[in-house]
Amino acid sequence: MSDTKARGETILSVRNLKTYFDTEYSLVKAVDDISFDLARGEALGIVGESGSGKSVTNLSLLRLVPTPPGKIAGGQILFRGRDLLQGGEEDMRLVRGGAISMIFQDPMTSLNPLLRISFQIAEALRLHHGLGKQEAKAKAVELLKAIGIPDAERRADDYPHQFSGGMRQRVMIAMAISCSPEILIADEPTTALDVTIQAQILELVKGLSDENTMSVIMITHDLGVVAGLCDSVCVMYAGRIVERAGCDELFRDPKHPYTRGLLDSIPRIDSAGRHRLYSIPGAPPNLAGLPAGCAFRPRCDRAMPICEREYPPEVALAGEDGAPRSVCCWLHAAGHSARSEA
Ligand code: SF4
Repeated sequence: MSDTKARGETILSVRNLKTYFDTEYSLVKAVDDISFDLARGEALGIVGESGSGKSVTNLSLLRLVPTPPGKIAGGQILFRGRDLLQGGEEDMRLVRGGAISMIFQDPMTSLNPLLRISFQIAEALRLHHGLGKQEAKAKAVELLKAIGIPDAERRADDYPHQFSGGMRQRVMIAMAISCSPEILIADEPTTALDVTIQAQILELVKGLSDENTMSVIMITHDLGVVAGLCDSVCVMYAGRIVERAGCDELFRDPKHPYTRGLLDSIPRIDSAGRHRLYSIPGAPPNLAGLPAGCAFRPRCDRAMPICEREYPPEVALAGEDGAPRSVCCWLHAAGHSARSEA
């Protein structure tokens, strides 16, 4: 998606969000003090390996973190200026599936196998918009047509198992957009799909975002998905945002060694000769026992002595495309460099 797309007003502002899990052994800080903004019509990618905290971040936005053992330990989630963490459960029920919707990774675990597709789509319309049974079903059929389900009138009465994986994911999208949400959160929506269907689903989400000025938060470990859809990106590692930038800029000039590693791990069609594909050494850290200092240090080939002692500050950088740009790495903090630390 073009990084020149006009950025609208801020619709969602996450401030110092902390989501912790109280386990038998220790307190796991799955999301540890993160902040970001989302503008109307913007597509924001949140990327990172498994366990980086990206999915917990998004469950937190809708207050869907299982409690206990999880809890939102601090911060604010300001949606149109109102803190979602302060409202009651009844307020949240109106927000979920209404103003903010979510598409999950596996549609088979999100769709009820015992209910017809049309009923499941119509349910949100009846709850949030007060539509009658017939009216809601007609709208459900309309949505199925809009997302490209052939013979929608007849297929609306089918059950989820009668649909292919790609079609079920489309149904999930129809459910998610049925109430014209202002924000669509998509958590690895294409991971379980083959590449052709993946491209169709992304095209669909992108089209809906462009048409409706709907904002999108795309959670993924796949940088190809980010490149095809997003305006800006937050890279997460060990529960924190370590780099943020406009999408094109991040791909052109990554600053954090972790982001560089992720980009170097992508196979390139234009690379000459046969060579082994790069992979970041080591494994993501155990959040129950993070190392002191920078959590990426055990895997970082540019680590300095200070990286072992102190967590790096967030350094604001000049973004070329108007998107906020920052990095958490001692390499970019004033007065620190590999040479000064040697
Ligand atoms: Fe590497 Fe140090 Fe930067 Fe962490 S702070 S990414 S260890 S250079």
